[in-house]
Amino acid sequence: MRALRKAIGAVEGKAAGSACFLGKRGNRVRPQTLDEAFEAEKARLEALQDDPLFAAHLEMLEDPMLREAVDAALAEGLSPADAVRSAERSITAMFEEIEDDYLRARADDVRDLCRGLLERLGGVARDGAAELPEAAVLVGEEFFPSDTTGLDYHCVRAFVAARGSATSHVAVIARAKGIPALFGVDTEGIREGDRLLVDGDAGTLIIGPTEEEERDFLQETPGPAPCTPLLRPDGSRVKIFGNAGSLPEIDAAMAAGAEGIGLFRTEFLYLASDRFPTEEEQWETYRQAVLHCKGKPLTIRLLDMGADKQPAYWKRPAEENPFLGLRGIRLALAHPKILSVQIRAILRAAAEGPVKILIPMVTDVEELREVKKMIRSCGGVVPTGIMVETPAAVLNAPELAAEADFFSIGTNDLAQYIQVADRNNPQVAAFCDPAAPAVRRAIEMTADAARNAGIPFSVCGEMASGKDAQAYLAGLGVESLSLSSPDQIRARSSAVRSS
Ligand code: PEP
Ligand code: MG
Repeated sequence: MRALRKAIGAVEGKAAGSACFLGKRGNRVRPQTLDEAFEAEKARLEALQDDPLFAAHLEMLEDPMLREAVDAALAEGLSPADAVRSAERSITAMFEEIEDDYLRARADDVRDLCRGLLERLGGVARDGAAELPEAAVLVGEEFFPSDTTGLDYHCVRAFVAARGSATSHVAVIARAKGIPALFGVDTEGIREGDRLLVDGDAGTLIIGPTEEEERDFLQETPGPAPCTPLLRPDGSRVKIFGNAGSLPEIDAAMAAGAEGIGLFRTEFLYLASDRFPTEEEQWETYRQAVLHCKGKPLTIRLLDMGADKQPAYWKRPAEENPFLGLRGIRLALAHPKILSVQIRAILRAAAEGPVKILIPMVTDVEELREVKKMIRSCGGVVPTGIMVETPAAVLNAPELAAEADFFSIGTNDLAQYIQVADRNNPQVAAFCDPAAPAVRRAIEMTADAARNAGIPFSVCGEMASGKDAQAYLAGLGVESLSLSSPDQIRARSSAVRSS
């Protein structure tokens, strides 16, 4: 082996693959011809068909209208790029004249599609799907949630980053997809194409292994140990739910035996788009999400943007400390139009099955009241709960419990804010610990407030996956645990089935 490096945080699992550095705005590729660009965009969109947003894009790409407009412009002597621009102008102008909101929004789909074609003509691919090696270990300084959208996960074997931790958002995504990851690793000296062995169980990275080392490494490893059912002090069973950020993740959680989705992160819908998703698009996604839950409950979290989740199209002033800035429900309430579009879409989807609304990053009861008022003014009645993930929410828990229908404890952020330790900074990973005494005290105060008010509380942060933590939370009377990893859900659910 050329080198062995130790990680500070990890997502469990083992993988071997070739180092691949992902560009920030897309991968450089050979400039493509018009036909190649259409084909490559088609392949990219076909791989994303579980998402209605991309289904609409594919429909538009396959509609002869776009190709015919491009060909007509080419016939007039325009270059391929100018022909795409000309087709974009004429088709968007046509859509924009239509009265119907839904059809008018198709103009944005055309713009988005044409941008993808132009990027490929200019030698940039926004996804990297076709350009990733078959077994890619993505290496970078730091990954953001927006880097993970549109990746071809058939090719991604692991993530390796110099920054981040076991509870950073990319770790959460990797865990949900069953992909190992290492954070806080020295990536110096790793070159594109280097063979890498990623061990998320041991937290180690081997660079340039010998063939024999790689063979030994890839030998079968035992799956998660079987679990016994988790019981609360009153003898009732703790329910096992799944966390998800997309329809395939809902499917994976449900197939693993989840009793519902305890946290549906909606911000990935916004990050995967290059403009605000319309009410129709959101409604279609949430409706599908409800249907994919097959009658089991779905808890949809209102958009939790800001901090490390910033789509490029949402132009906002720079913040010196974004994790202490306009984030979560503060940001959403500062943009009531954006929030009310989402609430209306959720309420319409709630006609299809049991839906709850979860409010992120709440600090005081006024925020809860404002959101409930907005839900009422959109004509809806759905159970509405809050994430308890800020110290202020813990201290205000009795007042919040009097007006919320349920609590969901977000231990990733709660540990970060209580312990004053950035969840993405490997240098303070040891401090950002949900088992730290102060965090445990905060969880116990929250559980007391919920119990006194007679509302249920669940835990959806990564802490919920730890075996010791699960026993501890069951002892506090947690109603349900919402887990990111389908393997963990499977292990816990089989305990339920065999009991
Ligand atoms: C949390 O903070 O624990 C949580 C579940 O929310 P997120 O990880 O999306 O910030
Ligand atoms: Mg959080």
